[in-house]
Amino acid sequence: MAHIGVLALQGDYEKHARSLTRAGAQVSEVRTAAELAAVDGLVIPGGESTTMLKLLDREAMFEPLREFGARKPIFGTCAGAILMAAKVENPEQPSLGLVDITVRRNGYGRQLDSRVARIDCEAFGELEAVFIRAPIIHSAGPGVRVLASYDGDPVLVEEGRHLLATFHPELSVDDRVHAYFLRKVAG
Ligand code: GLN
Repeated sequence: MAHIGVLALQGDYEKHARSLTRAGAQVSEVRTAAELAAVDGLVIPGGESTTMLKLLDREAMFEPLREFGARKPIFGTCAGAILMAAKVENPEQPSLGLVDITVRRNGYGRQLDSRVARIDCEAFGELEAVFIRAPIIHSAGPGVRVLASYDGDPVLVEEGRHLLATFHPELSVDDRVHAYFLRKVAG
């Protein structure tokens, strides 16, 4: 059974832990480098990326996360996807640079804070996608594979071992995306 960590500094990590458990993983909350070293893969949840950056700095977790991502799979959702991007706009902010995409924070504007959409995905068929002040991936390098799009923009992508969603799969009663991440971790 894969041992998956959920970064538990801020955001909706508990819902991810539930989805991962239902999908068949052993799950631990990760707050320290020692806890990170014990897991095979990691989920960085949605929340507020600026707050997470401050906490990563305070807990000295930025470098350990970057090193972990250089060897092991990470699934970033929403704020987690922002943290993993190569470049962040609106405004610019530091990021782990683990996936070759540029994201624009709050890309759908303030008037549309959240929405539930149906997206079509080659790998999964139809998926419910819950967007909450979501970023938009507006450019992606050649190594990035788009698994699903909404309104013409990629919303579920992978590059090598990593998986990113701009929506919140942990808020839908459907564990297919988490199960897919578990298959990536299993190699
Ligand atoms: N808007 C948040 C940010 O920029 C992300 C929102 C979310 O994770 N649901 O960090």
